Amino acid sequence: MFGSIVVDHIGELVTCAGDGIGLVHDAAVVVRNGRVAFAGARADLPGDARGDDVIDAGGRLVTPGLVDPHTHLVFAGSRAHEFDLRNQGRSYLEIQQAGGGILATVKATRAASDGELVAGAAARLDRFLAQGVTVVEAKTGYDLTIEGERRLLAALQAVRESHVIDVSPTLLAHVPPSGGDESSRALFVRAFAEELIPTTNAEAVDVYCDAGAFTLDETRAILTAAKKYGKRLRVHAEQFTHTGAAELAAELGAASVEHLEQLSDGAPARLAAAGVVCNLLPGAALTLKLPWPDARKLLAAGCAVALGTDCNPGSSLSESLPLMMTLACTQMGLSAAEAWLGVTRHAARAVGRADAGVLAPGARGDLVIWDADDHRQVPQHFGVPLARTTIVRGVIAFRRDAGA
Ligand SMILES: [Zn+2]
Repeated sequence: MFGSIVVDHIGELVTCAGDGIGLVHDAAVVVRNGRVAFAGARADLPGDARGDDVIDAGGRLVTPGLVDPHTHLVFAGSRAHEFDLRNQGRSYLEIQQAGGGILATVKATRAASDGELVAGAAARLDRFLAQGVTVVEAKTGYDLTIEGERRLLAALQAVRESHVIDVSPTLLAHVPPSGGDESSRALFVRAFAEELIPTTNAEAVDVYCDAGAFTLDETRAILTAAKKYGKRLRVHAEQFTHTGAAELAAELGAASVEHLEQLSDGAPARLAAAGVVCNLLPGAALTLKLPWPDARKLLAAGCAVALGTDCNPGSSLSESLPLMMTLACTQMGLSAAEAWLGVTRHAARAVGRADAGVLAPGARGDLVIWDADDHRQVPQHFGVPLARTTIVRGVIAFRRDAGA
């Protein structure tokens, strides 16, 4: 659905147009038929804009709708028990023996009906919307069989058709079949690459390349097939161990690399030269007590740094990009402006949505009115919801003050 709306009396407008975050004070935004027609100073507001529905922002902060470039949106079950054990210092092995780990989610996801999977993903999208998010990348990966991954993709397709948030589906090769020998691994990789990838409508393909997941050679085989079939490429790279997957992503021209907690010295320059967006996931580093990714090293090399929630039941159960901005600023040394670009323009590029994450004529009319009057307050004021009104393509999709 496309709408037309004027957001007036904006105290501070973040456009993310141009080089930086494009701040304008005393501003207005006009959306016509779902697209931005004007974003700038009130003094320059076209006279004919007054006839549309007008929302008074009351001097508040307005930004583009947020873009989450990395979520594991479709899953079932809870791993709260595992969260509690980990925080009490239990080892990974103890957690696995207590029924935790990814296989717990796989078991619950396989047992869930299609309707339950779609309802769970839609509830998460509702929470994303309430945090100002209007575009979400969403991965499969919790079934681990070829037909099961196809079912998860169908669930993502169903939720995409029914929800106002723009969902970009990614097929994820998460971990190889458990207990399998060498030949069953090879069979899975071949089936994933040659049977699953060419017959799905996933926009992107992602591989988890790490100890306990896929090897660098297997990752190369899957991503090479994905490239052949015109999919965007992503890699979960250098999270627990250094594998060289970041360099592979640069070589293959991936859209994004994920995590990067264990980065080599040479990788940032190669990622920058290849234009690969670096999706950093502070929620996972927080939950798993991993070292924080070296965002400053990536930025110094000229990389585009984006921030994702990594929303998943094990290592980062959150739909809050504002919280990720807080962590990126306080723990990784990002400026507030760098954090804003990380959840808007750079994230939109990683997801292949060039018209999102920016407020300029022609861009999609996705914007957020915040309970703040300065863009630095959103990462500073953490742990409480600050998105007041979320507008998707010119239509109000969420209001915190609804009914008031
Ligand atoms: Zn992930």
